[in-house]
Amino acid sequence: MQQSLAASEASEAGALVLNGKFTQGSLFRGQLPPGSQVTLNGEALKLNAQGKFVFGFARESALNHTLSWTLPDGTTGSRDIELEKRQYNIQRIDGLKSSMVSPPEETLKRIRRDSTVVANARGNISDLDAVFTGFIWPAEGPVTGVYGSQRVLNGIPKAPHYGVDVGAPTGTPVIAPAAGVVKLSDDLYYSGNTVILDHGMGVFSTFLHLDSSKVKAGDVVAQGDAIGTIGATGRATGPHLDWRLNLGKTRLDPALLVPPRH
Ligand SMILES: [Zn+2]
Repeated sequence: MQQSLAASEASEAGALVLNGKFTQGSLFRGQLPPGSQVTLNGEALKLNAQGKFVFGFARESALNHTLSWTLPDGTTGSRDIELEKRQYNIQRIDGLKSSMVSPPEETLKRIRRDSTVVANARGNISDLDAVFTGFIWPAEGPVTGVYGSQRVLNGIPKAPHYGVDVGAPTGTPVIAPAAGVVKLSDDLYYSGNTVILDHGMGVFSTFLHLDSSKVKAGDVVAQGDAIGTIGATGRATGPHLDWRLNLGKTRLDPALLVPPRH
């Protein structure tokens, strides 16, 4: 797996420059001459002024896709994209005593309010160029949870885990993996102190369970700037950073953007 990913990381087909891992959960970054038009499976993608664009594939995305384009001079081209099917870590636990506890109305209200503010924070597509730069890990520490893993309790699949978890003591610095603009810094019910960073073109990083946040909405941060510290706020079982990557509403795997770490 490692080898095929490395081999397919960047490729060119004529005018097209494409960068991404050919697997489910992956963010792709591409470029064509400015003024080109591009579609993915027939749907138009947005290009910025430099002809750069992004697209991504969800956890259970289909494996075969087609990118097609028309250059400013009318030349057309296309490129088939075949993704490797991922094996997710699925943990089945049976024979659990069922405890049907629904949260009280006050808590439900708060959870609904949280989803609205999070959706609003990721609701805008900006022209920031940061998404096209390299990403770095936002914290030191071992990976303790991976994208896509899922627990099946008494035969009922729970929501998959969509972030990459870095386990480290409370107070460990969290830095910006790429430049961006802070869209949210708030205390949410499930994810505790949460920061959302806009990297541009609809791509957002989210940092969960922070002990402290060092930023506020509207702040502009450079790659490597301190944004907070690792903690266990919200519904966390112990101190860790849960780093998530969104392309709009599609949840992608942030670990595919940074050097492998175990
Ligand atoms: Zn997590």
